[in-house]
This record gives sequence, structure tokens and C-alpha cells, in this order.
Amino acid sequence: MRAETLAIHAGNLYNISTQDVTPPINLSTTFLRNEDGGYSGGHMYSRVSNPNRSALENTIAELEKGADACAFSSGNTAGMSVFQAFKPGSHIIAPDDMYWGFKRQLQTIFADTLSIDFIDLTDIELIKQHIKPNTVMIWTETPSNPLLKITDVAAIAEISKANGLILACDSTFASPCLQNPIALGADIVMHSSTKYIGGHSDVLGGVLITAEKNEFWEKIRNIQQIGGAVPSPFDCFLLVRSIKTLSYRMRGHCENGMALALYLQNHPAVETVYYPGLPTHPGHEIARKQMSGFGGMLSILVRGGAAEARRIVNQVKLFAQATSLGGVESLIEHRASVEGPDTKTPQNLIRISVGLEHIDDLIADFEQALAVKQL
Ligand SMILES: *Cc1c(COP(=O)(O)O)cnc(C)c1O
Repeated sequence: MRAETLAIHAGNLYNISTQDVTPPINLSTTFLRNEDGGYSGGHMYSRVSNPNRSALENTIAELEKGADACAFSSGNTAGMSVFQAFKPGSHIIAPDDMYWGFKRQLQTIFADTLSIDFIDLTDIELIKQHIKPNTVMIWTETPSNPLLKITDVAAIAEISKANGLILACDSTFASPCLQNPIALGADIVMHSSTKYIGGHSDVLGGVLITAEKNEFWEKIRNIQQIGGAVPSPFDCFLLVRSIKTLSYRMRGHCENGMALALYLQNHPAVETVYYPGLPTHPGHEIARKQMSGFGGMLSILVRGGAAEARRIVNQVKLFAQATSLGGVESLIEHRASVEGPDTKTPQNLIRISVGLEHIDDLIADFEQALAVKQL
């Protein structure tokens, strides 16, 4: 089945006794045991599993073409569960522009236990040079945040397989509809489901998907179940509901993203547009090969430095000045001030999450915000 169909049906684990078309929210924390001690309903205690979470995990695994999925209470805990699965002394290769929350985890929580090289993963030779005897994983993120860098997942999968490493991919910016890293050779896929999967800026969550149910995946399941960073049944219900429209939302995000990128690229107030759909983007050819659309995230460098960037984010009316991304409403932010004083993000960079409003309204909003200076 295609993604549109799976998205609508894979989460419907029908309850034969009540015959619901839409599965209800099951709040029970504990489940009845049979006389023989077994659990014929398939659930024992809701930290371990519950019907709403199973429905979500089933849907996500199907959409990402994986063998299984684990849902977490945030994207951060999903990623952290992968890092926690390695022995102290392990070495990880990660992108130099890794999602800053993960970079912070690795540099603080795991500073004494894991060693990490943050390098440019678009440079395949550089990756090969950084593999050591204790290297266990290459963590990729594509498109990356906030520079929309594209890494070639299939090319890195070759290196990772040849060296017996785990290849993980943070695919949040792409969503399961635009890219399937497992099909490109990744072992683990990660999403912040707070973003496109949830799509309405009203639920926090994260997911991991595995290519194979192996020993490493067992460790992750254990961390999820014993660690307990699990989403609530209501969170899972919301996500299953959101996924039903994911493919159609992504089409709208891609269409609006491309149109806004083209408009901004031709605007004299804009120095650079980072959007993988533009032929001028350095990762465009790889993006065309591994993605079925370029998404709704773009960043721009504006002329006039940090002050002008801050002025523009205050001047737009439809784009809400807020962090996060992937919702139906457009968001905008001056990224460097979100990331703090030691950020490498350019001071004149504005990150935009293009929503599903009408594109003419979005462009008109930028037109007035960018024009004010000339008056
Ligand atoms: C938001 C985000 C995360 C973290 O997810 P949370 O749900 O905020 O914990 C990880 N990776 C990327 C690329 C993100 O955008």
C-alpha cells in the first residue's frame, strides 16, 4: 500500500467488541491477566505498551518501511535513547550542524561516557578518516537544521556497513512522506513527531524506527520501557489522527516552500536562500535522488545583519515568531538568538517553517515586511 493509504489505515487496530471506526483513547494503566497468568489482550501495564501507543508505533513503522517503531515523550528522549544504548567509551560520528538539542545532550549528559566527532557529513572522505576502532555509530540529519544541508544517506550507508557501524538518521525535516532512510540503508530513523508528524503544534513526541528487530533494537525497547519516557495515550491518539493527513499536508508544505523560496531568492533584501528544492542549493542533486519532495523548511540570510533579521521577524504578521516547525501555521525565528551565545548559526539567518496558508498571503506578508526599510 502507498503512504496515503497506510497513513489512514495502519493505526486502526479495530476493537471487535465495540466496533469503533476510530480507535478510542484507552486510558487504562493496567490490563487484566488471564487465569493462566497470560495477557490475552496483548498489554500488561501502560509504561510497557498500550493500545494507542501500539497503533502509533504500527503506523510509523509501516510508513517508514521499518520492522518496528518505538514512540517516546519527545524527540529529545528518542535520540537520547539511542545514545544511552552504547557502552561507555564508544565513539560516535555526528554532523557539525547537528540539531543543537542533541549536540547539547552529547556535550553535557554524555560528555564523560561517549566521545563524539562533529564533522561535515557531506564530505565522504572526511567520514572515512574519522572512523576509529571504538566507533559504533554515524548519526546523520538530513535536511539539517537550520542550514538545510543534505547528506547522502546511501553513500554513508555503504561506509557504515563496510565498517560494521550503526547508521542513524534524524529525518524530522523530511517526515516519513518525503524520505525513507531505511530504504537508503539506514539502520535507525528518528523523528521529532512534535513537528510534521503531529503537524498542529499541539503535541510533543518522538519516534525511532528500526530496519531490523535485532539486539540493538532490544536495548532501545528496554530503555523505552524501563526508562519510561513514553507518550500518553492522548498524545498517541493525536499523532495517529494527525498522520492520516500527513501526505496531503506535506504536499502543501512542499508547494508553499518552493514558491516562497523562489520569491525570496529574487528579492534584493535577501542575500541567500537555503532550500534544497532550488537548483542552486549544493545538496539539490542528492535531495532529488533521496527525497520525493523538498519540504516546507527554509532559511534565508538577509542583508543588514542581526538587527535587520530581528526587524523582519517582528515585521511579518502571518508568520508567528516562535521556535519549532512543521505545523499548519507558518513560523519564523531569528535562529542565532534561540541557540544562544556560542552558536555557529549566522547572525543574519532567519529560519522559516512554511505552513499551509495560501501562498499569496504568505508572499504578500514578506513583501510588506521586506519593503518597510525602503520607505
Ligand atoms: C525538534 C527537533 C528535535 C527534538 O525534538 P523535540 O520533540 O523538540 O524533543 C530533534 N531533531 C530535529 C531535527 C528537530 O527539529
